[in-house]
Amino acid sequence: MNLPVSSSTPFGGDYSPEQWPQDVWKEDYRLFDTARIDTVTLGVFTWAQTQPAEELYDFTVLDGIVAEAEAHGRRICLATGTGAHPAWMARAHPEVTRTDFEGRRHRYGQRHNSCPSSPVFRRLSAEVAGRIAERYADRPAVIAWHVGNEYGGACYCERCTAGFRGWLRERYGTLEALNTAWNTAFWSHTFYDWDEIEAPSALTEHWRGPDHTAFQGITLDYLRFMSDAMLANFRDEKAAIRRFSAGTPVTTNFMGMYRPLDYHRWAPHLDFASWDNYPPEDGSPAWMGLSHDLMRGLKDGQPFWLMEQAPTTTACRDVNPVKRPGVMRLWSWQAVAHGADAVLYFQMRASRGASEKYFGAVINHAGRDDTRVFREVASLGAELERFGGVALGARTPARTALLFDWDSWWALEMSDGPSRLVRYQQVVLGYYRALWEAGVDVDVVPVTADLSGYDVVVAPVLHMLKGDLAARLEAVARRGGSVLATYLSGRVDESDNAFLADVPGPLAPLMGVRVDEWDARGPDFANPVRLGEGPQGLVAEARLLFELVQPRGAEVIGTYQADFYAGTPAVTRNSFGAGHGWYVAAGLDQAGVGWVVRQVLDTHGIAGRYPGLPGLETAARVAPDGTRLLFLLNHAAEPVEVPAEAGGLDLLTGERIEPGRPFGLDAYGVRVLREDD
Ligand SMILES: [Zn+2]
Repeated sequence: MNLPVSSSTPFGGDYSPEQWPQDVWKEDYRLFDTARIDTVTLGVFTWAQTQPAEELYDFTVLDGIVAEAEAHGRRICLATGTGAHPAWMARAHPEVTRTDFEGRRHRYGQRHNSCPSSPVFRRLSAEVAGRIAERYADRPAVIAWHVGNEYGGACYCERCTAGFRGWLRERYGTLEALNTAWNTAFWSHTFYDWDEIEAPSALTEHWRGPDHTAFQGITLDYLRFMSDAMLANFRDEKAAIRRFSAGTPVTTNFMGMYRPLDYHRWAPHLDFASWDNYPPEDGSPAWMGLSHDLMRGLKDGQPFWLMEQAPTTTACRDVNPVKRPGVMRLWSWQAVAHGADAVLYFQMRASRGASEKYFGAVINHAGRDDTRVFREVASLGAELERFGGVALGARTPARTALLFDWDSWWALEMSDGPSRLVRYQQVVLGYYRALWEAGVDVDVVPVTADLSGYDVVVAPVLHMLKGDLAARLEAVARRGGSVLATYLSGRVDESDNAFLADVPGPLAPLMGVRVDEWDARGPDFANPVRLGEGPQGLVAEARLLFELVQPRGAEVIGTYQADFYAGTPAVTRNSFGAGHGWYVAAGLDQAGVGWVVRQVLDTHGIAGRYPGLPGLETAARVAPDGTRLLFLLNHAAEPVEVPAEAGGLDLLTGERIEPGRPFGLDAYGVRVLREDD
């Protein structure tokens, strides 16, 4: 099953009329008409109203909300409402609450608060999901099911511990295999009975928090188990929905680069991916591009939904700036440019009380239609309506892949040594940013993805190497492609045990290097690295991690300039088959990463449209009918003059861009060109 069937980009978002009297609802729909809001996500947190007691369901409120949306011709993304359990449930069944990392059994409160292993929670959440599906499945307005909300967190209760033991039995079969995988001969940890195994927490293997563990293998498996346990909750509800609704697609809203859950393990169970875009405070467009591409990569390049974004400010950070005029529109189009087939907000009307009352909303507390935010939303709604369905189902024609791997993320950041300062997301973002600045379309894919269609595969800090990945990367190079790997890659197997081989382990033949030692230094220390020669070269700075490389066939591209390893390789390139393996052995600064990435791209003639305009993002999509769309996004606060290459029709303004004639793009401006054949 695929995305919801649609002839235009769904536009709207999370709407919670259960928080207001019904006379407000009429006014809401008048304002929705003004803003061209055609899709509402309903019931995300209505469990306590839908089920006021264990034996009692009351659909009065939800019936009214759904009927109102139908009466006004809206499309509905209907939630199961299980992102927060009702208070009565925690009182009657204390097992539904979580036990935290410190071992404290929580009492009722907050949201995203359910123990995933609780049989009561599993039974009641599936039951309410089924009841909702049974009641609304035949309503044509319901185009998608939204299970739970932003799954996350972890539980360390006795039921989860028991579930963990069962998961381990399934995975390892015997205690002998488990003892080998966890290397339990270390520190007297040999297990003789499954019941001796504890959940890794502050009370057991950890100190200083979740990243500091005595046994990486145990903690890694618990992360995998917890991700699977929450996935089981999603699957419970999806199965309950499917009993009544055979054809309507099911999703849950992800959170982009969210460490606790391995979305690659989840993706096969969703009909389509969706996610909530709340970028860090700097609002880095490359961070958002990477997150969008990661979400698009979950379902093999299939478009996704932007399920939530803030119309303006968030309320969840210490400091919450407003989105500058034009920025919400720009970021919305950026999502579409990277594969979003829906543009949805949180929230439609500002919550009156509690923690999201200052979270930006399309309609503010005063209910005005003449605020800046409302006008910008309405203007985007009109623009999307004119744009129509031309981009729906369109794919990204990328020749470059970037590997993203939750296991490597977890293993790297819980490792004792060589450096706690090397952060997976930062390194991956650095390489993605270099590709983004080069203007290159990128597929961000799991390590299990088919790599046979890519010319360039970038694999930053691929700490853990699993299965036949090394052989598949070698195949990329053998047929003429380039593989770029970095320091701290190819170090451990899937149980987090070191390979009994030269570093970088299974990647060594492809990279043509051997690493015996590595140096880690504080953030203030930099070792200059000379890259290339002559005017085409560059002296970059490397920080945090410095591997000492002995070439075993690779040619030296960059060398350290200081310390006892001055003059030794920091960047190498190895000929392999008809292609190359590139190895970056140190934490290069952004200029250095950019230089190496450009060399790799140049080998294949992969070039962005406007490499001289780093603030101008371009992204391509090809529609099912072959229409080629080029998105141009100016992330700068100043206008930019763009030298036109190919010509096309700007679908937002109707303006023709003649081949070879420059054109302007406003501050935070957007153009979507339908390219000439
Ligand atoms: Zn639990």
